[in-house]
This record gives sequence, C-alpha cells and structure tokens, in this order.
Amino acid sequence: MKYPKKINRYCKYCKKYSEHKVGEVKNKERGALKHGSIQRAKKRGLGVGMGNKGKWGSKPAISKFKRTGAKLSKKTNLKFTCEVCKKTLIQKKGFRTKKLVFE
Ligand SMILES: [Zn+2]
Repeated sequence: MKYPKKINRYCKYCKKYSEHKVGEVKNKERGALKHGSIQRAKKRGLGVGMGNKGKWGSKPAISKFKRTGAKLSKKTNLKFTCEVCKKTLIQKKGFRTKKLVFE
C-alpha cells in the first residue's frame, strides 16, 4: 500500500499536532548470543521450570506435521519523527500489508 512521507500527527512531547516524517524501523542484526539466548542455553540442560517441557503430550513433535496457513503479509513498523522537536515515536499497532511504499 501507499503511505504518505509526511503526516500530521499528535506529538506527546510538543503536546500538539505537528508534521511528522514517516519512516520504517530497520531491524538491526543481533549478535550470536545475547543475554536471553545465553539464559535459555543454560536452562535447556538444567531441567528447571514448570511442566514437562512438552516432552510427553498427546501431540507429536512439530517436525511431524505440516504447518499451514502461513501469512503472506508482514505487519508494518513505522516511526514518526516530529519536525518541531525532532523526537521519534514508534507506531503502536502495525497493520498488515504485502508491500509498503512511501509517496
Ligand atoms: Zn514534537
């Protein structure tokens, strides 16, 4: 879908409506092991936590059945930079679209 490059939007820092520059949030490449992954790697071998870790259930392992209904579109992640105070706000709720073009 087409989306305007500049949009009039409420700025919570200026506390009024002002023009905002629209851009997409680029996700940066993460390191091989971050804090969360290190914790997970530690916990994997320990057998800590609640439940049986999904080992003995009625459903087979995820590799045993085919997943269907995969979505073709991605949710948007937009950022709005205020033209007055130059602060950036991230959109609260993304919407689904196959392709996003700024015009
Ligand atoms: Zn502002």
